[in-house]
Amino acid sequence: MGKLDVAILRYLTAEDFRVLTAVEMGMKNHELVPGSLVASIANLRHGGVYKLMKELCKHRLLTYERGKQYDGYRLTNAGYDYLALKALANRKVIASFGNQIGVGKESNIYIVADEEQNPICLKLHRLGRTCFRNVKDKRDYHAHRNRASWLYLSRISATKEFAYMKALYDRDFPVPRPIDFNRHCVVMELVRGGPLTRVTAVDDPEVLYDELMNLIVRLGNCGVIHGDFNEFNIMLDENGHPIIIDFPQMVSTSHPNAELYFDRDVRCVREFFKKRFGYESELYPRFSELEREDRLDADVECSGYKRSSQHDRDLLQELGIELGEESDESSSEEEFSQDHDASYSTHELDALREQVDASILNDETKPIGELISKTTEL
Ligand code: ADP
Ligand code: MG
Repeated sequence: MGKLDVAILRYLTAEDFRVLTAVEMGMKNHELVPGSLVASIANLRHGGVYKLMKELCKHRLLTYERGKQYDGYRLTNAGYDYLALKALANRKVIASFGNQIGVGKESNIYIVADEEQNPICLKLHRLGRTCFRNVKDKRDYHAHRNRASWLYLSRISATKEFAYMKALYDRDFPVPRPIDFNRHCVVMELVRGGPLTRVTAVDDPEVLYDELMNLIVRLGNCGVIHGDFNEFNIMLDENGHPIIIDFPQMVSTSHPNAELYFDRDVRCVREFFKKRFGYESELYPRFSELEREDRLDADVECSGYKRSSQHDRDLLQELGIELGEESDESSSEEEFSQDHDASYSTHELDALREQVDASILNDETKPIGELISKTTEL
């Protein structure tokens, strides 16, 4: 994984940003986006898109590749990272970039800082890439969802994580304060402390065990299961209290496999406590004992997750991901042709241009004030 060269952010002009966004939009329907299409949807007043694309290729934010049927541009990982980081910087959510502090299964975690130089945590979701390459090798697994899928999957994962984190935080669950998200990046409070997996001894395992099991039950009573409730996703704060992280895989207790996921979370805690602290208890929660008190699952579904087409569900299921649907994909149900030669109607081009404008506007707009209400109280 290449190190993020953040200095480049300073050199990205508004025009560069627009061109990258145009490629991003084009990638919804193209594995490689033809230059003419980029030029058309970037819609720069004075043209010059080819020159900008060449520069962006030099900085490896784009690549130009030869495809089977036609050649075109593709956003690189770095290109996608920069779009998100630049957007977060535009919104004044992050002001500087620090060290990488973690590599998760499907993410990279960095310390960044806001404008007051408070350290905060940035999670870059990295989904579906290796995964998808495997799929791809199985020979044109899915003609529709092409190599651009990692972009799509990472973004859904981040959107979903943010939505859950916010819903949990609003209900006073011990989770990092969610700050903002953009594309595949989630910005949140930096947890002081370390993951439980690094803890070799605790004062009273029974107290912590109870605290964790109570959390699983409280989540369940709100209608959700964490789904990956293990020592890597449980952090201990300075006072030894757990803080839960890592939410993209959360599921509703109405999910067909809910009991299975619930039992697995419970088992994770029991096995860890036995192995690490030599602590075992007869007491542990059962799925059948949950009592619905809240509809957190439904809230998250409503706030920004649309129904996805069966088509996308199938792909995601294949990749082992469960979810609703990302929020602002202005579901242009009219799929554009994969075929480069297809001529675009003015209507289609206008729609794409509008998407670019909407995306750029969104990237420049300060988010959702209520999100930070809990901090401003301090
Ligand atoms: P993944 O989905 O890839 O497993 P996680 O969200 O679990 O990613 O994060 C990976 C690691 O990064 C965690 O185990 C933890 O050590 C660190 N980390 C994640 N979020 C935070 C945070 N808000 N504050 C401090 N450290 C964090
Ligand atoms: Mg994790």
